[in-house]
Amino acid sequence: MSTPAAARRVTALPAPGPTYLKLHVPEMPAAEIAEPAPSSPPAPKVFSPEEVAFLAEASQKLETASPREIIAWAVEHYFPKLTMATAFGPEGCAIIHMLAEIEPRVHVFNLDTGYQFPQTLELRDRIAERYGVLVELKQPELTVVEYEAKHGGPLYKTNPDQCCFDRKVTVLKQAAVGWDAWMTAIRRDQSPDRANAPIVGVDKKFNLVKVNPLANWTKQDVWKLISDHDVPYNPLHDQGYPSIGCWPCTRAVMFGEDERAGRWSGFQKTECGLHTKD
Ligand code: SF4
Repeated sequence: MSTPAAARRVTALPAPGPTYLKLHVPEMPAAEIAEPAPSSPPAPKVFSPEEVAFLAEASQKLETASPREIIAWAVEHYFPKLTMATAFGPEGCAIIHMLAEIEPRVHVFNLDTGYQFPQTLELRDRIAERYGVLVELKQPELTVVEYEAKHGGPLYKTNPDQCCFDRKVTVLKQAAVGWDAWMTAIRRDQSPDRANAPIVGVDKKFNLVKVNPLANWTKQDVWKLISDHDVPYNPLHDQGYPSIGCWPCTRAVMFGEDERAGRWSGFQKTECGLHTKD
């Protein structure tokens, strides 16, 4: 039986600080490391049954691992072709904090829709100052002015699904080219769509391995880490915004409301499409 490609991608890295969970990895010469984002996009990756099985087994074993151990596992298996997406939420900031201790060279990017709060973009600078991690901004082809002119006004008012698709999903599809794995900051208890997220698995939408180190964490776990280590976070969280996306689609929540109630308020929409299967 052929060895799963995911297993072959193990590179010789210095052992990260914390002790982390080791999976059985067959003895193979280290794969050559290619630079991400080649000039002509390769054909979409097809995951073999062996790779899918390898990831399922890994996910199972990592169920009881801490976020640090999961991040270290992802670094061990996929760096330097590991990337991370962040919207600068508290979860993303918590991961960046841990990543900075484990492997600060991991590429981190943000989907900069053009509609982010100034406080969110300022947080990018504070993270760079604290950790030396400069989060890359990935922008859609059209500026906000061009996009709104094309659609006769802001699409977020009439068709937020299309707006998110154009300004987030499409941008991530382009940004995903050349990477093997991406890490996200979703938690299972955030929404029904996220409840079944594996720790690690195949992301068919973006043709990447997807790693969710915080899947088993709660909001309290995240804020404890932020408070214990004085991790930079968005000041809007102190003004009633538990979940922050683009400014037109985010409002403060009232006492007792769900933490994501302020996202796309007035629409049925609950997700931007990055973490849904379709
Ligand atoms: Fe557009 Fe709102 Fe989606 Fe941002 S969150 S991309 S403004 S619909």
